[in-house]
Amino acid sequence: MAGNKIKWQLIEALRQTPGGAARKQLCGQTGFSWGGVCKAAEELVAAGWLRGVKCPSATPGRPEIRLTFADAGPLTAGLDLGAVKWRFEIRDLAGRVLRRREERACARGGGFPAAAADFTARHLRGSGMKERIIALGIAVSGRIDSRRGVILSAGNQGVPPGSCLPLGSLVERTCGLPALLLPAQAAALWAEYGFGKHAGAANLILIHMGMGISAALLTENRLQLGRPAHPAGHIGHIHLPGNTRPCNCGLTGCIETVAGCQALRRDAAGRGLPENMAELNALALAGNRDAGELFREAASAVCAGAAPLIQLHAPEAVIFSGGQCREESFFYREVLRCLKGSLHREEQPPLELSSLDDFSAALGAARYALEGKVRGTGLD
Ligand SMILES: [Zn+2]
Repeated sequence: MAGNKIKWQLIEALRQTPGGAARKQLCGQTGFSWGGVCKAAEELVAAGWLRGVKCPSATPGRPEIRLTFADAGPLTAGLDLGAVKWRFEIRDLAGRVLRRREERACARGGGFPAAAADFTARHLRGSGMKERIIALGIAVSGRIDSRRGVILSAGNQGVPPGSCLPLGSLVERTCGLPALLLPAQAAALWAEYGFGKHAGAANLILIHMGMGISAALLTENRLQLGRPAHPAGHIGHIHLPGNTRPCNCGLTGCIETVAGCQALRRDAAGRGLPENMAELNALALAGNRDAGELFREAASAVCAGAAPLIQLHAPEAVIFSGGQCREESFFYREVLRCLKGSLHREEQPPLELSSLDDFSAALGAARYALEGKVRGTGLD
């Protein structure tokens, strides 16, 4: 099936119209011509992606034909390979979840690609739906070259800088499906753009605070991936003046060496505090001065990277995601307080927690892979 932009817009319009839509309505929703919509719809029906349903017309005459997704239509698979958890899910074109699995991350370092390919193959096989999957997206926490499908580094997963792990081709060989690799935070932002509270906003920033600290940018409806050697949004690896701590990215003095989970645990231990993040958070909330100070220093470091990014980019909203971003997190609250103090009042966009669940990066990676396939653009 030839790919094009109209087909993608029809799929997106139908996803947002659960009861299906007539072609005329789709012309209005997408802004495309009657001829263009009819031709694209015809091809999608012929390919088994859509079906027409006869509905009584509001006006006398012929029944109306509404287009909707075909029952046994194509599916997408998304994975999120994080430092702590590995997640897998399958969705249909309407975005409905058909299957989900979550496991503890099971490999680090050089063993990472083989274990990840095995994880993907095992869950695709186990789903019984592999034959229907047409797009596979994989989100990885680390530095990724999406065009070549390789992991360049993933410090929190033991993949050192200077690596070149060809996860994309390994998954394709093992599973028989081409895989699109995306940095996890970029994938999570793409999910926000399609499915989150600020879906459709042309300019967004996502700040991820989990094992590491990172950000992703959406500019004029385009996801910014940067270049492999200069990825967009890597705020965790901005240098903090005066900080001489070595970072697992190979540089010195990065924000993550103060605000990443590993740094927080190490600093907590150094101050005689518990290394467990939940216990540390409870102490800070209960008014423990040392625990509070630890999180305040970390929040100030996050803010040093995030505030200029927000000010320069001027997004419609800033969305926070990751294990450290919860209403009841002292660290998260301090980051918000610090950002509000750093940004001019007039330049403060809404700062909000993600409304999506823990599978958002898996969803975003799969959806980005699907869009590339339907539009025939791949990574444009
Ligand atoms: Zn670093």
